[in-house]
Amino acid sequence: MIGAGLSSLYSACYLAKKGHQVIVYDKNNMPGGRSQFFESDGFTFDMGPSWYWMPDVIDRMFDELGEKRTDYFKITRLNPAYQVFWNDRTSTNIPSNHEELISLFDAFEKDGGKKLQSFLDDAKVKYDIAMSSFVENPGIKLNELLKFSILKDALKLDVFKSVEKDVENRFNSLKARDILNFPVLFLGERPSKIPAMYTLMNYADLQLGTWYPEGGMNSIAQALEKIAKDNGATFQYGTTVDEIQAKNGAVSGLKVNGKIEEFDRVIAGADYNHVEQQLLPKQYRRYDENYWDKRKMAPSSLIFYIGVNNRIAKLEHHNLFFDERLEDHGKEIYDDPKWPTKPLFYVSATSKTDQNVAPEGCENLMILIPLATELDDTDEMREKYFNIIMERMEMHCDQDIRKHVIYNNSFCINDFKTEYNSYKGNAYGLANTLRQTANLKPKIKSKLENLYFCGQLTVPGPGIPPALISGKIAAKQLITEL
Ligand SMILES: Cc1cc2nc3c(=O)[nH]c(=O)nc-3n(C[C@H](O)[C@H](O)[C@H](O)COP(=O)(O)OP(=O)(O)OC[C@H]3O[C@@H](n4cnc5c(N)ncnc54)[C@H](O)[C@@H]3O)c2cc1C
Repeated sequence: MIGAGLSSLYSACYLAKKGHQVIVYDKNNMPGGRSQFFESDGFTFDMGPSWYWMPDVIDRMFDELGEKRTDYFKITRLNPAYQVFWNDRTSTNIPSNHEELISLFDAFEKDGGKKLQSFLDDAKVKYDIAMSSFVENPGIKLNELLKFSILKDALKLDVFKSVEKDVENRFNSLKARDILNFPVLFLGERPSKIPAMYTLMNYADLQLGTWYPEGGMNSIAQALEKIAKDNGATFQYGTTVDEIQAKNGAVSGLKVNGKIEEFDRVIAGADYNHVEQQLLPKQYRRYDENYWDKRKMAPSSLIFYIGVNNRIAKLEHHNLFFDERLEDHGKEIYDDPKWPTKPLFYVSATSKTDQNVAPEGCENLMILIPLATELDDTDEMREKYFNIIMERMEMHCDQDIRKHVIYNNSFCINDFKTEYNSYKGNAYGLANTLRQTANLKPKIKSKLENLYFCGQLTVPGPGIPPALISGKIAAKQLITEL
């Protein structure tokens, strides 16, 4: 396996459980890939994902390994699920309780609760169809999509309408619209460009809930690493794969630490573009640079990991600062890539829920601004945006924050490239537009007969649950071909 991100970890478990001998290499020093954590000055920061969504899918992935997620870590449903700050200086807590949620939408507009119920009922149909018919398709052959039952289901998925249109047609209130447009931001495009089938994410958000895993987000990776090791897999961290060698249409070996190691089959969970364009000899690449350059990438991010020696009363565990217009920020990510004029941002304060992540009386903040990929990432820009964000947070939270900062670290486009070999510094892989969905994503199978890909740049896409599923798809395909 190349990489110990969540997708590769799942593949490693799946294969090790079936009795295969598995070796996992990762250039970094812990399992989890983008879902790493670090500790400094008494603070612990999850570096990447912070929203634990679709607990049903994650539990099912453990079940399919013959394991129980509860034997490894507990999860707690957050209430409020999250808080949204608005430009009128108010904020809204999104309750986990369904009746309270309905009342909240009634307060936004006439019949808001009834409209929300009908919207969520439709979203559930899409969620169920996607989970049962599509999400585990390997995306290799067209006939996967041509089965009658799948075509019939596809008609219910609203693939030709956008999420934004669907929401706009049903709701008048700007606040209701912003809340319902938010979840698709995880899919790496604006709601106006994402097919309405992805309102299934609203079902995940508002019905299935937002959870927090005991020990932080890296608990998933630690659990999978343990399962793989208990079943005989070995892990070599701090170990970069430098080259994939091929002979007669098949991988003959991986160059690791200057030595060639031989394997029967290889699954690559490192960024797809890196593996194809930098590790594979040219004649074995399925895609060329031109293909990659034309892909619509999901955004990168500027992230601050901040330790504050004070509690910030007005923050919740998850906080969305929607005090500027989403569409304007979106244009500066996708249409006219530049550092955003008035960025939206997100703040995670896990210290609100977990007393082990910050010293007593302190708060740990992970602040994330979505950005276009390939911007000029400089210290000056990072500092400029730190000040913009702090000013807005201090205003909304009615409290000094900057003078209480005792730890400050940042991570941006250049770090995505060096830390994860990420194409153009992307954070979340490819945008899930219609043209980059299912069979139209980069294939899980290489031109080389014994090389497979998993991870967020192939099917089914970015996010923790899809990454796990991707690991399963690649491992299953490998076993089928064996
Ligand atoms: C900032 C951020 C926030 C996110 N928020 C959420 C969220 O809240 N909820 C959610 O569900 N998802 C979220 N995601 C998405 C989710 O984290 C990813 O989709 C998922 O973790 C990707 O897993 P992966 O296995 O595809 O790749 P990765 O995690 O990138 O793993 C690939 C691994 O390959 C290694 N590697 C690269 N090149 C080599 C090489 N040559 N040799 C050896 N190893 C190599 C890398 O070091 C890395 O460990 C977020 C992602 C980011 C970056």
